[in-house]
Amino acid sequence: MILKKAVILPCSGIGKSFGTVARQATYIVVNELRTDKTKTFCLPLLQIADKEALDLTKNNFVISIDGCAKACAFKDVERSIGRTSDASVMVMDVLRENKEFRTKQVTFLDENGKKLARKVAERVAEEVDKLLECN
Ligand code: SF4
Repeated sequence: MILKKAVILPCSGIGKSFGTVARQATYIVVNELRTDKTKTFCLPLLQIADKEALDLTKNNFVISIDGCAKACAFKDVERSIGRTSDASVMVMDVLRENKEFRTKQVTFLDENGKKLARKVAERVAEEVDKLLECN
């Protein structure tokens, strides 16, 4: 039996602080919180129909992380593999529950941005556990 992993796909978010938070949260999950259970790759690989990226996405659970309501990562997954992400986390939703962590820094996160990224990562880690424990 092949054990599935959770593929974590953040939006690119260039020029947007919430996109930076989404990427940083992904690193925290993949490199720290759920190292053995998760993988990630560059989202644009789906747009160019990269076979390895498509196979990984189709054969595992997918959690998209989006900076804002445009939901680019969620939509990219759906368009690329014909099904929606198994779970979706929105940075703005996490911020609404943690208003003290508002950040404006884009390239390098300030302390608030780092704290928000960790909150997002913890939310994603919960989704990883739900998906892998229930299936
Ligand atoms: S979801 Fe929002 S922040 Fe992320 S890439 Fe799309 S527009 Fe940018």
